Parts: sequence; structure tokens; C-alpha cells
Amino acid sequence: MNNDTICALATANGIGAIGIIRVSGERSFKIVDKVFQGKNLEKVKSHSVHYGFIKDENEVIDEVMVSVFHSPKTFTTENSVEISFHGSPHIAKKILEVLIKNGARMAKAGEFTMRAFMNGRIDLSQAESIADLIASENEASRKVALNQLKGGISNEISNLRGDLLNFTSLVELELDFAEEDVEFADRSALNKLLNKIEDKLSSLIDSFQYGNAIKNGVDVAIIGKPNAGKSTLLNALLKEERAIVSDIAGTTRDTIEEILHIKGTAFRFIDTAGIRETTDKIEAIGVQKAKEKISTAKILLYLYDEFDSEPHEVIDFVKTFWREDLKIILLHNKIDLSGGYFENDFDKKVKAELFPKFTNSIIGVSAKEGTSVEAIKNELVEYIEDIKTSENTVITNQRHYESLQKSLESVKRVKSAISQSFHTELLAYELRYALEHLGEISGEFTNDEVLGNIFSKFCIGK
Ligand code: GDP
Repeated sequence: MNNDTICALATANGIGAIGIIRVSGERSFKIVDKVFQGKNLEKVKSHSVHYGFIKDENEVIDEVMVSVFHSPKTFTTENSVEISFHGSPHIAKKILEVLIKNGARMAKAGEFTMRAFMNGRIDLSQAESIADLIASENEASRKVALNQLKGGISNEISNLRGDLLNFTSLVELELDFAEEDVEFADRSALNKLLNKIEDKLSSLIDSFQYGNAIKNGVDVAIIGKPNAGKSTLLNALLKEERAIVSDIAGTTRDTIEEILHIKGTAFRFIDTAGIRETTDKIEAIGVQKAKEKISTAKILLYLYDEFDSEPHEVIDFVKTFWREDLKIILLHNKIDLSGGYFENDFDKKVKAELFPKFTNSIIGVSAKEGTSVEAIKNELVEYIEDIKTSENTVITNQRHYESLQKSLESVKRVKSAISQSFHTELLAYELRYALEHLGEISGEFTNDEVLGNIFSKFCIGK
């Protein structure tokens, strides 16, 4: 398969000033030469750019610039050509057709990056970071993806893995001398290394909460009884009239999602129908959805209006939905109706029951007048500050997260094998197991199914 020369559109499929078609494989120059009117690409220097025309037999398709990259200093490590043409999807199609007619084939999703991985230029976590980099929508996710592309995670893991591999070899050597009862691998030094690996893995695992927040955003559920002012608040936060605001209880039938970027993090607001017992079927679907949304949310904005609720309702609600990993912010809405005043007996009762275990945040708000919008935003940013880690390397990828967890489990098992003076054979087995999991992140240990799954999510041309 790797002998094939592949081609694909590398730029977005649409109209642009310039489009780029990538060609990679041993026969790249030969194939492009057949359709390129200009210099002989087999004879030009690597990393050089040439002017000319792409032709289908005698018909000129477009005026182009062609970049030539000789193996091995290329993205895929193979001979590669990039054809820059006038960015029309029709021209792109015609050029791809003529390349295929002359011996190239269409690349599969992610095949360029897969070749870079297969040919050893990048490891698996770096390959994944390319997808993350392309998908990055803010500063934080761009920086994390770039760090990973530069080998952030791979370096950290592979150094530790290298040390563990040395010990494993020594332990396995002991097996060859089983009769003689020798110990080549110093058990206390091995234990020390395992502790170090355990610390590193734990802090990488901990960084996932933050990594996931910057990569995928943070779900914020806005909950409150009908008419508490949820849609009005959402509009105030987004400063745009997106949600429907009305006086009739239960107008917000379905959930509405809006994204607000604050200091580089995407907060995904979910405006939900009010939680209440209801016989209205459509409304009931909304209530169910609200319950689901709270279950995935990291932040809950609970909005209440003292004229239409009782302290115990707020207290009961918070106690019912409280979770360790859910930040609850209480918003006492419509303070414009009480002259901007809150923290009255109502709030005192709420605080007495809920502070500090269930929440520590209560803000007086007038969603209608936009009061306290900044204070709410500050509370949201504080969530990110709280989960930020001191780790330079931040885990953003679910697959890495799972591999790290499995690695940590296996390191713990090795430690317990040592402490219980298990037979060397068993210790060697556990060590191999730990090495495998550590190797999964960089792709040293992997299988076709995992690879297929990773690269199929890339788009064609990547
Ligand atoms: P939802 O059902 O929770 O989404 O509530 P809405 O946002 O639709 O608001 C219900 C009603 O309360 C509307 O008439 C709003 O104008 C009004 N409202 C919302 N927030 C405030 C506020 O801060 N002050 C006042 N006076 N009215 C508000």
C-alpha cells in the first residue's frame, strides 16, 4: 500500500484565492511531470518552487506553482509535491482526475499523517495533535496542541518508559539465572522509579479536567423555575436576543445552546426549560433534558426570583443535584424589583443551609438590566483557574487519558508485586504490561483497529 502515490486536496473544499493539492509517494515526481508543463521535477532541488501549467494531454487546466520535496525531509518522509492552483473546486477536481489518470490514487482520510506516523517521522500522539491543531478554536487549545506536536507528552512518557524498560531487561535477565537466586535489578531503585512514574502519571491524569475544558469547552447549565429569567440572563450574557423571552411560563420548550468565549475558554450555555413537575407533555421533555444537561455540566447557574419561590425550594434543588465536580453558582435574579438589594432573610436561609459545602457563590442579578454579568463571567473563569494544573503538558485526548489510567493501574500492580515479593516471573509479566500501556500513547504498542479509528476521523488531505 505504501508504494502507492496518493493525492488529495489539502486546502478546504471551497472557493479560495489558492488551493493546494498534495501528492506523496515514491512516484510523485514522475506522475506530476507527466502533467506539468515546466521544469523536469525529477531534476530540481528539494524544497524548491516552480512555475508552470497543469495539462490534461494538450489542454491546459490551470497555471500553477509546484513545490518539490525530496524524501526523507518531507511531512510523510516520502517524495512529495504540492500543487498550488487557482482555488476553484472545479479546477481541484480536474487536477486530481488527471493525477489519478497518470498513476496516483486518491488518499484516504488521514493517510498523509498516517504515513508520517508509519514511516516513523512522528509518533501517534503527535499525529493526533495535528488533528487537534487544525481543530483549535482558541489560544489555549492551540498552545496545548502545539506542545503535543512538539513531542510534549511523548517525551515525558518515553523517558520514563525507557528507564522502566532497563529495569525490565534486568528482571528478565534474572529469569535466565533462576537457579542461582541473583538480583540484577535493585528492587529499591526500581521502587523509586515506579514512585516517580506514578507521580507523573497522576499529575498528567489530573491535567485532563483542564485539558478537556480548553479543548472541548465547559458545559454550563442555566436552571431555574419557569419565568425565573433564564432566557433573559442568557441574552444578557451573550448580549444578543437569541433565546425567546416571554411572560408565559414554559416558553423555553427545548434547550438552546450558545457558546461564549471568555479568556480563551469556550463556555457552552444550555438554557433549559424550568424544572418542575408538569403534566404538559412537551414541557416534560424539557424537564428531562434539564436533568440530563445537569449531569454533563461542570457549572450550574441556578437562577431564582424571591417573589416566586421559597428558600427551601432553592435548598432542596441544590442538595438534590449537587456533585463533587459541579460548581454551583446561585443567582438571585430580579434585584431591580427590590431596589438592587439582595442578601435578605431569603438568602440568609439559603446560605445557612448551603454554605460552604454545596456552594460558596451567590450573586445578586438583574438579568433584565444586565447587572452582575461581569461578576458571573468572573465566576466562570474562576472555575478554569481552579482546575488549572502546574503541569506544562496537559492531556486533552480521551485515548491518552484512558492509557494513562491503565498505565497507572499497572504501575501500582508492579509496586504491589515488589512489596509482596512476588515471583520474578510474575514481576516481569506486570512490568511488560505496564510498558505496553505506556507505549500506547506514542503508538509503540498499538493495533490496526486503534490506528484505523484514529485516522478515519481525519479528513482527506490531512
Ligand atoms: P425563563 O422562563 O426562566 O427563561 O424566564 P424569562 O427569561 O423568559 O423571563 C420571564 C420574565 O421575567 C420576562 O418577562 C422577563 O422580562 C422577566 N425578567 C427576567 N429577568 C428579569 C429581571 O432581572 N428583572 C425583572 N424585573 N424582570 C425580569
